[in-house]
Amino acid sequence: STPGGSRVREEKIVVTVRLRPLNKREQLAKDNVSWECIDDHSIVYKPQSQERVHQPSSFTFDKVFGPTTVTETVYEDGVKTVALSALMGINATIFAYGQTSSGKTYTMRGITEKAVNDIYQHIMRTPERDFRIKISGLEIYNENVRDLLNSESGRNLKLLDDPEKGTVVEKLVEETATDDQHLRSLINICEAQRQVGETALNDTSSRSHQIIRLTIESTLRETSDCVRSFVSSLNFVDLAGSERASQTHADGARLREGCHINLSLMTLTTVIRKLSVGKRSGHIPYRDSKLTRILQHSLGGNARTAIICTLSPASSHVEQSRNTLFFATRAK
Ligand code: ADP
Ligand code: MG
Repeated sequence: STPGGSRVREEKIVVTVRLRPLNKREQLAKDNVSWECIDDHSIVYKPQSQERVHQPSSFTFDKVFGPTTVTETVYEDGVKTVALSALMGINATIFAYGQTSSGKTYTMRGITEKAVNDIYQHIMRTPERDFRIKISGLEIYNENVRDLLNSESGRNLKLLDDPEKGTVVEKLVEETATDDQHLRSLINICEAQRQVGETALNDTSSRSHQIIRLTIESTLRETSDCVRSFVSSLNFVDLAGSERASQTHADGARLREGCHINLSLMTLTTVIRKLSVGKRSGHIPYRDSKLTRILQHSLGGNARTAIICTLSPASSHVEQSRNTLFFATRAK
């Protein structure tokens, strides 16, 4: 149950798609643009000349954002209401899902920045409440959890089951932000720490998940009435490249290589698919991976979720883009 007890309309998971422009490398390789956003809700496949398309070629979502759309708009139209619900005591999670180089990190950084601005604007406009914002950051790589605010903590933090809080990460540092500048600097430390891992271990960013978690507490001033206190988590999740979840390419060679399938990503896609089906979905396997255990209380139930699926427009990536759109369709 959610502290504060605000009643919210039961709402589906908000699923949006962001199509980025062709990048330099794709342009130099004479890659074609294979996808087009034809209105605010639909993205369609543009066949090459002579090509006959046997698979679905049109997909519809809560919103689709084309290559000229700025992150500000993605935030305003696709994320803001979900993010701000965390100010009212409702847990919320924002995901970026997509293949490596499709724009997850680019999008998630911008979204986090906009959300921080909005949170502090709300705090300024709400003098009757006392707010406290705490932050923690972690990375999951090969099912090992690492603290992004404490480089000394080692690479394999334990998960513990707390009777009140649910799953907690043992020894994970949580800092209280004194103001918005301080919060931004702590977020930057997390980003920098993630990059340290990246240079040490080739290719980690495509295989690892990053979670920035804000814990937002507020109480009405001049009252000790607990009912008027809110506590919630707002999670920003930059997922591993979705090619790590693609079963269609799990042929013998790749399976033998082992690491290509990412347990946390596979489990997350199952959890989200089951949540989107609703009450009939039966058992939800939160406990099968580190990512879903850590996010359990911020997914499903009363929690709000926004998923931004990022896509490369390039014809050389059509298979992966299609897989992303199938995931997005099942998440609705
Ligand atoms: P991912 O995190 O999914 O691997 P990145 O966010 O690192 O991908 O993006 C790959 C490259 O594409 C980066 O150079 C990034 O700046 C660029 N890029 C991503 N999305 C956009 C966008 N919407 N507009 C312009 N450039 C983008
Ligand atoms: Mg990235």
